[in-house]
Amino acid sequence: MATMYYESDVDKSSLEGKTIAIIGYGSQGHAHALNLRESGHNVIVAQRPDSANGRLAQEHGWQLHSVSEAAAKAQIIQILLPDQVQAKVYKEDIAPNLQDNDVLMFAHGFNIHFNQILPPKNVDVIMVAPKGPGHLVRSEYEKGAGVANLIAIYQDHSGNAKKLALAYAHGIGGTRAGVIETTFKEETETDLFGEQAVLCGGASELVRAGFQTMVDAGYQPEIAYFEVLHELKLIVDLFYQGGLSYMNYSVSDTAEYGGHTRGPRVVNETSRQAMREIMEEIQNGSFAREWLCENLVNQPVLRKMRERDHDSQLETVGRKLRKMMPFVNPKEV
Ligand code: NAD
Ligand code: MG
Repeated sequence: MATMYYESDVDKSSLEGKTIAIIGYGSQGHAHALNLRESGHNVIVAQRPDSANGRLAQEHGWQLHSVSEAAAKAQIIQILLPDQVQAKVYKEDIAPNLQDNDVLMFAHGFNIHFNQILPPKNVDVIMVAPKGPGHLVRSEYEKGAGVANLIAIYQDHSGNAKKLALAYAHGIGGTRAGVIETTFKEETETDLFGEQAVLCGGASELVRAGFQTMVDAGYQPEIAYFEVLHELKLIVDLFYQGGLSYMNYSVSDTAEYGGHTRGPRVVNETSRQAMREIMEEIQNGSFAREWLCENLVNQPVLRKMRERDHDSQLETVGRKLRKMMPFVNPKEV
Protein backbone atom coordinates (compact mmCIF):
# COMPACT_ATOMS: atom_id res chain seq x y z
CA MET A 1 0.00 0.00 0.00
CA ALA A 2 1.14 3.56 -0.70
CA THR A 3 2.10 5.76 2.26
CA MET A 4 -0.37 8.63 2.64
CA TYR A 5 0.50 12.01 4.13
CA TYR A 6 -1.99 14.33 5.79
CA GLU A 7 -2.07 17.67 7.65
CA SER A 8 -0.25 16.35 10.74
CA ASP A 9 2.77 15.22 8.65
CA VAL A 10 3.57 18.76 7.54
CA ASP A 11 6.39 20.93 8.89
CA LYS A 12 5.23 24.33 7.71
CA SER A 13 8.49 26.03 8.71
CA SER A 14 10.24 24.77 5.55
CA LEU A 15 8.54 27.49 3.45
CA GLU A 16 9.06 30.29 5.98
CA GLY A 17 10.94 33.30 4.67
CA LYS A 18 10.91 31.95 1.11
CA THR A 19 9.40 33.53 -1.98
CA ILE A 20 7.46 31.21 -4.29
CA ALA A 21 7.25 32.15 -7.99
CA ILE A 22 4.26 30.74 -9.87
CA ILE A 23 5.23 30.72 -13.56
CA GLY A 24 2.05 30.78 -15.68
CA TYR A 25 -1.41 31.82 -14.42
CA GLY A 26 -3.50 29.17 -16.20
CA SER A 27 -5.59 26.29 -14.93
CA GLN A 28 -3.08 25.16 -12.28
CA GLY A 29 -1.22 28.46 -11.89
CA HIS A 30 -4.12 30.58 -10.66
CA ALA A 31 -5.15 27.88 -8.16
CA HIS A 32 -1.65 27.39 -6.71
CA ALA A 33 -0.99 31.14 -6.48
CA LEU A 34 -4.28 32.02 -4.75
CA ASN A 35 -4.27 29.01 -2.39
CA LEU A 36 -0.64 29.56 -1.34
CA ARG A 37 -1.27 33.27 -0.76
CA GLU A 38 -4.30 32.52 1.42
CA SER A 39 -2.27 29.90 3.31
CA GLY A 40 0.05 32.76 4.32
CA HIS A 41 2.96 32.22 1.93
CA ASN A 42 4.92 34.83 0.03
CA VAL A 43 3.94 34.38 -3.63
CA ILE A 44 4.79 36.21 -6.86
CA VAL A 45 3.33 35.53 -10.31
CA ALA A 46 4.86 35.54 -13.79
CA GLN A 47 2.35 35.83 -16.64
CA ARG A 48 2.29 37.97 -19.79
CA PRO A 49 0.12 41.03 -18.98
CA ASP A 50 -1.32 41.25 -22.55
CA SER A 51 -3.22 37.94 -22.20
CA ALA A 52 -6.60 36.92 -20.78
CA ASN A 53 -4.86 35.16 -17.89
CA GLY A 54 -2.67 38.22 -17.33
CA ARG A 55 -5.75 40.41 -16.97
CA LEU A 56 -7.34 37.86 -14.64
CA ALA A 57 -4.21 37.79 -12.46
CA GLN A 58 -4.29 41.58 -12.17
CA GLU A 59 -7.98 41.42 -11.19
CA HIS A 60 -6.92 38.96 -8.48
CA GLY A 61 -4.54 41.58 -7.13
CA TRP A 62 -1.21 40.29 -8.50
CA GLN A 63 1.52 42.54 -9.75
CA LEU A 64 2.86 40.72 -12.80
CA HIS A 65 6.52 39.83 -13.29
CA SER A 66 8.39 38.59 -16.32
CA VAL A 67 9.53 34.96 -16.03
CA SER A 68 13.18 35.95 -15.61
CA GLU A 69 12.36 38.55 -12.94
CA ALA A 70 10.25 36.08 -10.98
CA ALA A 71 12.86 33.32 -11.26
CA ALA A 72 15.54 35.69 -10.00
CA LYS A 73 13.47 36.96 -7.05
CA ALA A 74 12.12 33.62 -5.79
CA GLN A 75 13.81 30.69 -4.07
CA ILE A 76 11.03 28.32 -5.09
CA ILE A 77 10.06 28.28 -8.77
CA GLN A 78 6.94 26.34 -9.75
CA ILE A 79 6.68 25.96 -13.56
CA LEU A 80 2.99 25.87 -14.54
CA LEU A 81 3.31 26.56 -18.26
CA PRO A 82 1.97 24.18 -20.94
CA ASP A 83 4.33 21.16 -21.01
CA GLN A 84 5.37 21.77 -24.62
CA VAL A 85 6.70 25.30 -23.94
CA GLN A 86 8.41 24.66 -20.59
CA ALA A 87 11.82 23.63 -21.97
CA LYS A 88 12.21 26.77 -24.10
CA VAL A 89 11.13 29.14 -21.32
CA TYR A 90 13.35 27.25 -18.86
CA LYS A 91 16.44 27.61 -21.08
CA GLU A 92 15.88 31.25 -21.92
CA ASP A 93 14.45 32.76 -18.74
CA ILE A 94 14.73 30.42 -15.76
CA ALA A 95 18.09 28.62 -15.99
CA PRO A 96 20.12 31.88 -16.18
CA ASN A 97 18.41 33.08 -12.98
CA LEU A 98 18.73 29.93 -10.86
CA GLN A 99 20.74 30.33 -7.68
CA ASP A 100 22.43 27.84 -5.40
CA ASN A 101 19.81 26.01 -3.24
CA ASP A 102 16.80 27.18 -5.24
CA VAL A 103 13.92 24.74 -5.63
CA LEU A 104 12.63 23.94 -9.11
CA MET A 105 9.07 22.62 -9.08
CA PHE A 106 6.67 20.96 -11.50
CA ALA A 107 3.06 19.73 -11.49
CA HIS A 108 3.76 17.04 -14.12
CA GLY A 109 6.95 15.09 -14.73
CA PHE A 110 7.10 15.22 -18.56
CA ASN A 111 9.99 17.66 -19.07
CA ILE A 112 12.25 16.18 -16.39
CA HIS A 113 11.46 12.55 -17.16
CA PHE A 114 12.01 12.95 -20.91
CA ASN A 115 15.16 15.08 -20.41
CA GLN A 116 13.78 18.26 -21.99
CA ILE A 117 14.86 20.22 -18.89
CA LEU A 118 18.29 19.33 -17.48
CA PRO A 119 18.50 21.06 -14.11
CA PRO A 120 21.86 21.91 -12.50
CA LYS A 121 23.04 19.85 -9.51
CA ASN A 122 22.81 22.66 -6.94
CA VAL A 123 19.01 22.91 -6.77
CA ASP A 124 16.19 20.69 -5.48
CA VAL A 125 13.84 19.34 -8.14
CA ILE A 126 10.43 18.29 -6.87
CA MET A 127 6.91 17.72 -8.10
CA VAL A 128 3.59 18.50 -6.46
CA ALA A 129 0.89 17.36 -8.86
CA PRO A 130 -2.77 17.78 -7.97
CA LYS A 131 -4.84 14.84 -9.26
CA GLY A 132 -7.55 17.10 -10.59
CA PRO A 133 -8.14 20.14 -12.79
CA GLY A 134 -6.99 23.56 -11.60
CA HIS A 135 -10.45 25.01 -11.08
CA LEU A 136 -11.19 22.23 -8.56
CA VAL A 137 -7.86 22.79 -6.78
CA ARG A 138 -9.12 26.33 -6.21
CA SER A 139 -12.81 25.69 -5.46
CA GLU A 140 -12.14 22.77 -3.07
CA TYR A 141 -9.62 24.88 -1.16
CA GLU A 142 -12.17 27.69 -0.82
CA LYS A 143 -14.63 25.19 0.67
CA GLY A 144 -12.04 24.09 3.25
CA ALA A 145 -11.44 20.84 1.33
CA GLY A 146 -8.70 19.86 -1.12
CA VAL A 147 -7.70 17.79 -4.16
CA ALA A 148 -5.27 14.88 -3.53
CA ASN A 149 -1.66 15.49 -4.60
CA LEU A 150 1.18 13.32 -5.86
CA ILE A 151 4.63 14.39 -4.71
CA ALA A 152 7.97 13.25 -6.11
CA ILE A 153 11.62 14.08 -5.49
CA TYR A 154 13.96 14.02 -8.50
CA GLN A 155 16.90 15.78 -6.87
CA ASP A 156 17.37 16.42 -3.14
CA HIS A 157 20.26 18.90 -2.99
CA SER A 158 19.12 20.46 0.30
CA GLY A 159 18.26 17.22 2.05
CA ASN A 160 14.95 18.92 2.77
CA ALA A 161 13.09 18.25 -0.48
CA LYS A 162 10.34 16.04 0.92
CA LYS A 163 9.53 18.50 3.73
CA LEU A 164 9.31 21.26 1.12
CA ALA A 165 7.03 19.20 -1.11
CA LEU A 166 4.70 18.44 1.80
CA ALA A 167 4.63 22.06 2.95
CA TYR A 168 3.79 23.17 -0.60
CA ALA A 169 1.08 20.49 -0.88
CA HIS A 170 -0.30 21.77 2.42
CA GLY A 171 -0.32 25.33 1.05
CA ILE A 172 -2.50 24.39 -1.93
CA GLY A 173 -4.85 22.23 0.19
CA GLY A 174 -3.53 18.84 -0.95
CA THR A 175 -2.81 17.42 2.53
CA ARG A 176 -6.50 17.90 3.41
CA ALA A 177 -7.37 15.20 0.85
CA GLY A 178 -4.17 13.14 1.08
CA VAL A 179 -0.73 13.11 -0.53
CA ILE A 180 0.95 10.06 -2.09
CA GLU A 181 4.65 9.86 -2.87
CA THR A 182 5.61 8.72 -6.37
CA THR A 183 8.51 9.19 -8.83
CA PHE A 184 8.72 11.46 -11.86
CA LYS A 185 8.76 8.30 -14.00
CA GLU A 186 5.64 6.76 -12.47
CA GLU A 187 3.65 10.01 -12.47
CA THR A 188 4.56 10.86 -16.07
CA GLU A 189 3.93 7.42 -17.54
CA THR A 190 0.70 6.72 -15.67
CA ASP A 191 -0.68 10.19 -16.39
CA LEU A 192 0.02 9.86 -20.14
CA PHE A 193 -1.35 6.31 -20.27
CA GLY A 194 -4.53 7.21 -18.41
CA GLU A 195 -5.34 10.19 -20.59
CA GLN A 196 -4.53 8.39 -23.86
CA ALA A 197 -6.03 4.95 -23.33
CA VAL A 198 -8.95 5.56 -20.99
CA LEU A 199 -9.88 9.12 -20.06
CA CYS A 200 -9.50 11.45 -23.04
CA GLY A 201 -8.72 8.97 -25.83
CA GLY A 202 -10.55 5.76 -24.96
CA ALA A 203 -13.72 7.35 -23.60
CA SER A 204 -14.09 9.81 -26.53
CA GLU A 205 -13.57 7.11 -29.12
CA LEU A 206 -16.10 4.82 -27.43
CA VAL A 207 -18.65 7.65 -27.60
CA ARG A 208 -17.83 8.42 -31.27
CA ALA A 209 -18.11 4.75 -32.25
CA GLY A 210 -21.36 4.17 -30.36
CA PHE A 211 -22.93 7.32 -31.81
CA GLN A 212 -21.88 6.43 -35.38
CA THR A 213 -23.16 2.86 -35.07
CA MET A 214 -26.61 4.09 -34.01
CA VAL A 215 -26.82 6.80 -36.68
CA ASP A 216 -25.67 4.37 -39.41
CA ALA A 217 -28.41 1.96 -38.28
CA GLY A 218 -30.95 4.72 -38.98
CA TYR A 219 -31.73 5.93 -35.46
CA GLN A 220 -32.21 9.64 -34.74
CA PRO A 221 -28.93 11.42 -33.92
CA GLU A 222 -30.55 13.23 -30.96
CA ILE A 223 -31.42 9.91 -29.35
CA ALA A 224 -27.95 8.58 -30.06
CA TYR A 225 -26.43 11.68 -28.43
CA PHE A 226 -28.45 11.29 -25.23
CA GLU A 227 -27.73 7.59 -25.10
CA VAL A 228 -23.94 7.57 -25.44
CA LEU A 229 -22.71 11.03 -24.45
CA HIS A 230 -25.17 12.70 -22.09
CA GLU A 231 -25.95 9.55 -20.10
CA LEU A 232 -22.29 8.62 -19.76
CA LYS A 233 -21.98 11.25 -17.03
CA LEU A 234 -24.69 9.61 -14.98
CA ILE A 235 -22.89 6.26 -15.21
CA VAL A 236 -19.48 7.75 -14.38
CA ASP A 237 -20.96 9.50 -11.33
CA LEU A 238 -22.01 6.08 -10.05
CA PHE A 239 -18.46 4.70 -10.64
CA TYR A 240 -17.13 7.70 -8.73
CA GLN A 241 -19.39 7.15 -5.73
CA GLY A 242 -19.24 3.38 -5.40
CA GLY A 243 -17.09 1.79 -8.08
CA LEU A 244 -18.20 -0.65 -10.78
CA SER A 245 -20.33 -2.67 -8.32
CA TYR A 246 -22.41 0.31 -7.27
CA MET A 247 -23.03 1.24 -10.91
CA ASN A 248 -24.22 -2.32 -11.59
CA TYR A 249 -26.33 -2.27 -8.43
CA SER A 250 -28.06 0.93 -9.56
CA VAL A 251 -28.83 0.01 -13.16
CA SER A 252 -31.42 -2.61 -14.18
CA ASP A 253 -30.51 -6.31 -14.15
CA THR A 254 -30.98 -6.24 -17.93
CA ALA A 255 -28.37 -3.49 -18.25
CA GLU A 256 -26.04 -5.28 -15.85
CA TYR A 257 -26.27 -8.61 -17.73
CA GLY A 258 -25.99 -6.97 -21.15
CA GLY A 259 -23.01 -4.93 -20.00
CA HIS A 260 -21.12 -7.87 -18.48
CA THR A 261 -21.59 -10.06 -21.53
CA ARG A 262 -21.24 -7.47 -24.35
CA GLY A 263 -18.69 -5.01 -22.92
CA PRO A 264 -15.74 -7.40 -23.35
CA ARG A 265 -16.65 -7.83 -27.04
CA VAL A 266 -16.11 -4.09 -27.54
CA VAL A 267 -13.02 -3.67 -25.37
CA ASN A 268 -11.47 -7.02 -26.31
CA GLU A 269 -8.05 -8.64 -26.65
CA THR A 270 -7.28 -6.39 -29.66
CA SER A 271 -8.00 -3.32 -27.54
CA ARG A 272 -5.87 -4.65 -24.68
CA GLN A 273 -3.01 -5.28 -27.11
CA ALA A 274 -3.41 -1.68 -28.36
CA MET A 275 -3.21 -0.51 -24.73
CA ARG A 276 0.04 -2.43 -24.20
CA GLU A 277 1.48 -0.85 -27.37
CA ILE A 278 0.43 2.62 -26.23
CA MET A 279 2.13 1.95 -22.88
CA GLU A 280 5.30 0.84 -24.71
CA GLU A 281 5.36 4.04 -26.82
CA ILE A 282 5.09 6.10 -23.64
CA GLN A 283 7.82 4.12 -21.85
CA ASN A 284 10.28 4.10 -24.75
CA GLY A 285 9.95 7.85 -25.37
CA SER A 286 8.43 7.65 -28.85
CA PHE A 287 5.19 9.35 -27.80
CA ALA A 288 7.19 12.19 -26.20
CA ARG A 289 9.29 12.59 -29.37
CA GLU A 290 6.17 12.63 -31.57
CA TRP A 291 4.40 15.25 -29.41
CA LEU A 292 7.47 17.51 -29.19
CA CYS A 293 8.00 17.29 -32.99
CA GLU A 294 4.30 18.10 -33.55
CA ASN A 295 4.89 21.29 -31.57
CA LEU A 296 8.02 22.21 -33.55
CA VAL A 297 5.86 22.29 -36.70
CA ASN A 298 2.99 24.25 -35.09
CA GLN A 299 0.62 21.35 -34.29
CA PRO A 300 -0.73 20.48 -37.79
CA VAL A 301 -2.21 17.15 -36.68
CA LEU A 302 -3.77 18.53 -33.50
CA ARG A 303 -5.39 21.40 -35.44
CA LYS A 304 -6.92 18.97 -37.99
CA MET A 305 -8.30 16.78 -35.21
CA ARG A 306 -9.92 19.77 -33.52
CA GLU A 307 -11.55 20.85 -36.80
CA ARG A 308 -12.80 17.34 -37.47
CA ASP A 309 -14.46 17.15 -34.06
CA HIS A 310 -15.90 20.65 -34.22
CA ASP A 311 -17.71 19.97 -37.52
CA SER A 312 -18.78 16.39 -36.76
CA GLN A 313 -22.44 15.36 -36.47
CA LEU A 314 -21.94 14.30 -32.83
CA GLU A 315 -20.67 17.75 -31.85
CA THR A 316 -23.18 19.65 -33.99
CA VAL A 317 -26.14 17.76 -32.55
CA GLY A 318 -24.69 18.09 -29.05
CA ARG A 319 -24.28 21.87 -29.30
CA LYS A 320 -27.91 22.22 -30.33
CA LEU A 321 -29.25 19.98 -27.55
CA ARG A 322 -27.10 21.52 -24.82
CA LYS A 323 -28.44 24.99 -25.67
CA MET A 324 -31.85 23.68 -24.58
CA MET A 325 -30.42 22.38 -21.28
CA PRO A 326 -29.04 25.38 -19.38
CA PHE A 327 -28.72 23.15 -16.28
CA VAL A 328 -25.78 21.33 -17.87
CA ASN A 329 -23.94 24.70 -17.89
CA PRO A 330 -23.11 24.42 -21.62
CA LYS A 331 -19.68 25.54 -22.81
CA GLU A 332 -18.43 26.21 -26.34
CA VAL A 333 -14.84 26.44 -27.57
P1 NAD B 1 -2.56 26.26 -18.96
O1 NAD B 1 -2.44 26.09 -20.42
O2 NAD B 1 -3.90 26.30 -18.33
O3 NAD B 1 -1.79 27.58 -18.49
C1 NAD B 1 -0.51 27.91 -18.91
C2 NAD B 1 -0.25 29.40 -18.73
O4 NAD B 1 1.03 29.68 -19.30
C3 NAD B 1 -1.27 30.31 -19.42
O5 NAD B 1 -1.64 31.33 -18.52
C4 NAD B 1 -0.49 30.87 -20.62
O6 NAD B 1 -0.87 32.22 -20.92
C5 NAD B 1 0.94 30.83 -20.16
N1 NAD B 1 1.89 30.62 -21.28
C6 NAD B 1 1.69 29.84 -22.37
N2 NAD B 1 2.78 29.87 -23.17
C7 NAD B 1 3.67 30.70 -22.58
C8 NAD B 1 4.98 31.13 -22.91
N3 NAD B 1 5.59 30.71 -24.03
N4 NAD B 1 5.60 31.98 -22.06
C9 NAD B 1 5.00 32.40 -20.93
N5 NAD B 1 3.74 32.02 -20.56
C10 NAD B 1 3.10 31.19 -21.37
O7 NAD B 1 -1.65 25.09 -18.28
P2 NAD B 1 -2.09 24.03 -17.17
O8 NAD B 1 -3.11 23.10 -17.74
O9 NAD B 1 -2.35 24.75 -15.89
O10 NAD B 1 -0.75 23.17 -17.04
C11 NAD B 1 0.36 23.63 -16.31
C12 NAD B 1 1.12 22.39 -15.78
O11 NAD B 1 0.29 21.71 -14.84
C13 NAD B 1 1.50 21.37 -16.84
O12 NAD B 1 2.73 20.81 -16.48
C14 NAD B 1 0.40 20.33 -16.72
O13 NAD B 1 0.77 19.05 -17.16
C15 NAD B 1 0.19 20.33 -15.22
N6 NAD B 1 -1.12 19.83 -14.78
C16 NAD B 1 -2.26 20.37 -15.30
C17 NAD B 1 -3.50 19.95 -14.83
C18 NAD B 1 -4.78 20.60 -15.31
O14 NAD B 1 -5.79 20.40 -14.68
N7 NAD B 1 -4.80 21.41 -16.34
C19 NAD B 1 -3.57 18.92 -13.86
C20 NAD B 1 -2.38 18.41 -13.32
C21 NAD B 1 -1.16 18.87 -13.80
MG1 MG C 1 -3.16 14.86 -16.47
